[in-house]
Amino acid sequence: MRLVDSHCHLNADRFEADVDDVLARAQAAGLERILVPGWNVRSCERALELAEVHPWLDASVGVHPHDAAKVDAAGWEGIARAASDSSVVAIGETGLDYDRVFSPIPDQLTNLRRNLALALETGKPAILHCRSAANRRDGQDALLAELRAAGLGGGAWTVAFGDRPPAVIHSFSGSQDYARAVLDLGLAISFSGLAFRGGEEASRQVAAFVPAERLLVETDSPFLAPPGAPRSRNEPEWVRVTAAWVAEARGEDLAGLGAALVDAYDGTFPRSRARA
Ligand SMILES: [Zn+2]
Repeated sequence: MRLVDSHCHLNADRFEADVDDVLARAQAAGLERILVPGWNVRSCERALELAEVHPWLDASVGVHPHDAAKVDAAGWEGIARAASDSSVVAIGETGLDYDRVFSPIPDQLTNLRRNLALALETGKPAILHCRSAANRRDGQDALLAELRAAGLGGGAWTVAFGDRPPAVIHSFSGSQDYARAVLDLGLAISFSGLAFRGGEEASRQVAAFVPAERLLVETDSPFLAPPGAPRSRNEPEWVRVTAAWVAEARGEDLAGLGAALVDAYDGTFPRSRARA
């Protein structure tokens, strides 16, 4: 079984003591790629360190909506510089969180725009977090408006990315029409353990129609444990639960889906020549 984890916070403090054991379990479960996204200055630095020590890991750097109001100009400059590192394959995670609103919405919007600008400048796809409160869709609507205003789906983005997705909707949450709208802009969609929660029933239909080359899976460890994984700390090996759910939703066999997931990962996050 071949697998990827396209979003896994091994840079979180909760993995500091035993990351080598976690990686050994991940490799035993068939994982060939893990993308470690930063969310603030410190976690971006730690993502780079991990990708340096473990060359089979990839890093991404950016600022999460929760931290939008907490990263100062010098912090952002450091992150923007790190974005050109050869171990960095994406920008983020960034996005909008209209559910918890840990940073004021105007700060989230400013932060999203500078992360998108950095994605366009570097040609590395943006990793987008997007959540609304239960039974609402204001976060998704605002994100779509921002992506359209930034010009995704055409112009300079097409020049910079060609056929590659210019962004990934990480830990998909939302309706079928929202999914179709982001696919129309050329984005990829990644599913996590969130898909198993109440209120996320549309995810099953979405998982069935996302084109294979734009379909990803992730754990978002240490968060969002799928059924069967320890709720105290999710780990990359548990991506197999979400992959099995996706395979079932698509009526595909798990081994074939796993190989397609590796291809989709490599097509979305190509490594620079120096590291390949
Ligand atoms: Zn995350």
